[in-house]
Amino acid sequence: MSDDSQSGEGGQRMRTPVYEMLWNCEFCGANKLLGKTHRHCPQCGAAQDPAARYFPPEEEKVAVQDHVFFGADWECGNCETPNSNASAFCGNCGSSKDGTSTVELAHDRDSKAEEAAAAAAAAEEPPKKSGKGKFLGCCVIVLFGALALFCAVSTLWTQSSSFTVSGHSWERTIQVEEYAEVSASDWCDDMPSKAHDVRESRKERSTERVADGQDCQTANVDNGDGTFRQEEECTTRYREEPVYDEWCTYTIDKWTEARVARASGQDLSPTWPDANAKTCTSARKGCQREGTRNETYTVTLTGDGEDHTCDFSESKWRGLSDGATVDAEVSVLMGGIQCGTVQ
Ligand SMILES: [Zn+2]
Ligand SMILES: [Zn+2]
Repeated sequence: MSDDSQSGEGGQRMRTPVYEMLWNCEFCGANKLLGKTHRHCPQCGAAQDPAARYFPPEEEKVAVQDHVFFGADWECGNCETPNSNASAFCGNCGSSKDGTSTVELAHDRDSKAEEAAAAAAAAEEPPKKSGKGKFLGCCVIVLFGALALFCAVSTLWTQSSSFTVSGHSWERTIQVEEYAEVSASDWCDDMPSKAHDVRESRKERSTERVADGQDCQTANVDNGDGTFRQEEECTTRYREEPVYDEWCTYTIDKWTEARVARASGQDLSPTWPDANAKTCTSARKGCQREGTRNETYTVTLTGDGEDHTCDFSESKWRGLSDGATVDAEVSVLMGGIQCGTVQ
């Protein structure tokens, strides 16, 4: 069998230092027996239980000199004694190696136990959290629902009421812009080309992850033959490093709002204000131009001894003559007039 030839002569000398696993005899209570040297308890003769092997604390490590590794032990199917992979027959009962399995490794057993503990902890914790989250979520939904319902009711629950048109007012505005020098700042590569009087400084723009050494720790690895080796497991550590760039403070000439020309009245003849813009043929400093125009037309409606105001388009505003009676919907909850329903 190829398996046998490999185990018989194919043992390999381990380059890293190798140490004895320890085990405790469950029959007589003898502690800290050596995994490789003591295949049977030196005190009572009981066979070693491979499942009882454990890693010794750091200060109690026992080195194995010139260790030859034949692979993990096999467990006798007849008497459960662990046997070296180099031997074809059980040292305890003489059964042959066929149909046997290798022993479970201590670090696998440990990590399985850790996973099980983590899973048990995870299974216990979250319901509390999600329960709280669910409760909060419900509160928010109920609150929003109530708010939406209130809004809907106050908009939809209305009653019709009569009003008398008691006044008109209007306001018209023209924004006046001036071509002027303004100071601004930005990242130099985003600066507009017309900028002048530029001053540069350095400023943190972002950060980048930089490798910053390694965190290493020693891990015990069960060889499965009563011995173990130690391996260094390392993970890279990172830190955030600031990335600097050029920040530009500059002056630029552009159109900016200078003032607003305003005209208003209580009559029915609205006019545009005189903007008095100092216009030029080409844009240079001190030149002005007219910007956005705005117009507002307001009607005062009196009903139940209260004045309400509504803004309308110019034509609707003109169409509502003073003293006329109009109907409009009024919110039952809030008492406000719904200007869109005025007719
Ligand atoms: Zn014993
Ligand atoms: Zn056996």
